[in-house]
Amino acid sequence: MTKLSPAERERQILDLIAAKGSASIEELAQTCSVSTMTIHRDLQRLEKMGRIQKRHGGAILEESLTGRSACAMCGKTSSGKQTFIVHFTHGDPKHTCCAHCGLMLLSASQDVWQAMTMDFLHGHMISAGQAIYLIGCDLNVCCVPTLLTFGSRTEAERFQSGFGGTLATMEQAIHSLLGMHPKEGQEEGTAKL
Ligand SMILES: [Zn+2]
Ligand SMILES: [Zn+2]
Repeated sequence: MTKLSPAERERQILDLIAAKGSASIEELAQTCSVSTMTIHRDLQRLEKMGRIQKRHGGAILEESLTGRSACAMCGKTSSGKQTFIVHFTHGDPKHTCCAHCGLMLLSASQDVWQAMTMDFLHGHMISAGQAIYLIGCDLNVCCVPTLLTFGSRTEAERFQSGFGGTLATMEQAIHSLLGMHPKEGQEEGTAKL
């Protein structure tokens, strides 16, 4: 893994904590490939900024600042199992309950700087643009049709052989979702998500 700049590391720390609600220092150190001392200092800084709260051996997100509990698209409370995060060039990042809502948010947003999705099997955040999407498998995880994301194509294929569904890139997945959610109707504020 390439070394992250402090700013990138900060973002990764916040993403991980946001995705899971909390994270231990060891976990963060491992994810960011730095020492626990470094994470300790990062957390101290983030706490001063009011982004997180430190808890014994780890950190939780400062709830008042996040809105992580409710999906930015459908308002459903996130299970934390399939979080999708969209970072914007300006303004605060938005979280959705799953990749389904995440891609809907992406396609409706401008000004997107970076999108992250959770690897369904491993539970860490991966780049949404590089993830493999499994559309409409037999598993009901969150929003229907179910959209699961995988970091590895081999793992996605193995999962598909057990649970069905169609593998797709992010562009293909957005396309297929938009086909099911026509954009008309949004002006009336009655868009079904
Ligand atoms: Zn949602
Ligand atoms: Zn969902």
